[in-house]
Amino acid sequence: MSDLKELLLPRLCPVCGKLLMESEDVLCAFCAIQLPRYRINSNNAGNKFFDNILLRSIWDKADVRRATTFLSYNHDSPYHNLIIAFKFHGKSDLAVKLGRWAAMEAERQDFWEGVDALVPVPLHWWRRLKRGYNQAERLAQGMAEVTGLPVVNLLKRTKYRKPQSQLKGAARIRNAEGIYEAAIPDEWRGKRLVIVDDVMTTGSTLANCALALQKADKSAEICIFPLSFAGN
Ligand SMILES: [Zn+2]
Repeated sequence: MSDLKELLLPRLCPVCGKLLMESEDVLCAFCAIQLPRYRINSNNAGNKFFDNILLRSIWDKADVRRATTFLSYNHDSPYHNLIIAFKFHGKSDLAVKLGRWAAMEAERQDFWEGVDALVPVPLHWWRRLKRGYNQAERLAQGMAEVTGLPVVNLLKRTKYRKPQSQLKGAARIRNAEGIYEAAIPDEWRGKRLVIVDDVMTTGSTLANCALALQKADKSAEICIFPLSFAGN
């Protein structure tokens, strides 16, 4: 959206549709307080980032060491509009903001310890061109502002396929197979990398990204941080 259009259109909260006050940034104060945070619990006494439902749903697909998320993803909740707004309605500033909040919450719980870089899940170049930005990269930029970590584009999406949101179960896994490739320069070998995405459903996208990174560098330690998680 152009700056001029932004100035002329009333600014609305993407969740409740209320007119935003000048002091309110990208969503209204009420909706910001009520954000549906995902509470990650560990099944054992250890650190919850090393054994939780996100890791358990991806373990059979890829070797991922650490995982967390920020929001609970629910298709029927008005908060679903947040994802729609930054994914389809050009609200990339909202993605940066949510990335910042997600990173702050994770920082309070020491998620970032020993992490070397943030790696966004890539879009196919054609979709990136149409959208004007990669929402996962904007989320990672927000996380970078908080953590000081670099955002490194080590992954490439090689094939254009149907969006995962249009597919179910096994079809998602097949659809995501072999469409990511990684090229890892020497300076990024043997690092602890956090893959960033907007929504984790079955985990097939994140698993395939993890596999691509590990194929390119066996010594890479992979962690995942989807902004939201659809499991329960
Ligand atoms: Zn609101």
